[in-house]
Amino acid sequence: MSSTVCFISFHELALKGRNRSVFERRLQGNLDACLESASFETSRVKRIAGSLTVAVHDPSQAEECAQLLAQIPGVTAVAVAYKTSRDWEVICDTALQALREAAPEQGSYTFKVDSRRSSTDFPKNSMDINREVGAHLLAATIDEGAGVRMKNPDVLVSVKIVGGFTYISTKKIKGIGGLPTGSSGRTVSLLSSGIDSPVASFRMMKRGSVVLGLHFSGRPQTNDSSERLVIDIGEVLARTGGLARIYVIPFGDIQREIAGIVEPSLRVIMYRRLMLVIAERLAQSQKAKALITGESLGQVASQTLDNIVATNEAVEMPILRPLIGSDKDEIVNEARHIGSFDLSIQDAEDCCTLFMPRSPETHARPKQVAASWDLLDVEDLVQRALDSVEVHEFNPRFGGHKSLRNC
Ligand code: ATP
Ligand code: MG
Repeated sequence: MSSTVCFISFHELALKGRNRSVFERRLQGNLDACLESASFETSRVKRIAGSLTVAVHDPSQAEECAQLLAQIPGVTAVAVAYKTSRDWEVICDTALQALREAAPEQGSYTFKVDSRRSSTDFPKNSMDINREVGAHLLAATIDEGAGVRMKNPDVLVSVKIVGGFTYISTKKIKGIGGLPTGSSGRTVSLLSSGIDSPVASFRMMKRGSVVLGLHFSGRPQTNDSSERLVIDIGEVLARTGGLARIYVIPFGDIQREIAGIVEPSLRVIMYRRLMLVIAERLAQSQKAKALITGESLGQVASQTLDNIVATNEAVEMPILRPLIGSDKDEIVNEARHIGSFDLSIQDAEDCCTLFMPRSPETHARPKQVAASWDLLDVEDLVQRALDSVEVHEFNPRFGGHKSLRNC
């Protein structure tokens, strides 16, 4: 008798020495939380000798389960596996069943057996298992057109003897890797509906940070289309479990005020500085330790080194820029992979296009920036922005500090 499980691997965590069990437990909790809202039934996630497993009640839903778990930070791979006893005959029969299910319906094909034995009390070593299970499979399938191939076989039959059971699989889904959510503190990510900042946020989630998104919309000077897109992008990012919530601040009137006070060429830098100050204040109230942006050096006028420095100076909190050295092509590919790209390229009325000067400053000089900044009543603008914040919850488990009163 066998049951169907997802067998979850995580490499990087294994390197963490004494912290390993803390990380494992965190990942286990995150996977359990992810499965709570799934549309199918599973057991709770169990830890066994350096791996995690979860039993899927209806085997036809095991692949869906694996897809879901593969998106959780910390997971390097998820295999859909048969869990059986360590009885040799049962192992051989189950491996044959798995191979037949994975084999093409017609024509010849190749396979290879790859085994791992974590339980040293098992009488055969992994070389023996490879050879003997392989011979059994070949004898049973050679007339069906099967052959053994060591390099790039069509079907890889994985046999793992771990903690009193055997796990046999032919389907493995690559996970996103990284570290479990919650192991790297909280961050506030300045999230537009563009291509870059969702990718930057995703990278931080992948590294274990709980991300709080902050979007500035052009409302009431624009409609709410950018907000709706950001919320849709949030749904995609939330599959990792690392997006706690998205804050939306209507920024249109504030931009209008700034545009009436400072000279056109420095407007964009003023908007950006103010966004950062607001983000810093929000981060402090939510116990977040750093800000994230999707900036990439020199990509657009506002992202020259001089302008990055000019905006950076407005805050004390560290600003992390996960994309600073990435080319647009790389970012676009990643956005496609994450699933945010098709949303990001939709047209939206964004605050970025509001009150834009014809020729923004590309190499802002600190003295000019400081002089323009002094013209603004920053405290009043920040307070008004924070008073109008709207909150969209994505993962209440990591939401934590709801009160914005101390901003
Ligand atoms: P993106 O694709 O992330 O919008 P971009 O290439 O359009 O980036 P900019 O418009 O210069 O570049 O924005 C730089 C960064 O400033 C963004 O990556 C994002 O972190 C932040 N940002 C820009 N607009 C907004 C906004 N409306 N709300 C929140 N953050 C924003
Ligand atoms: Mg943008």
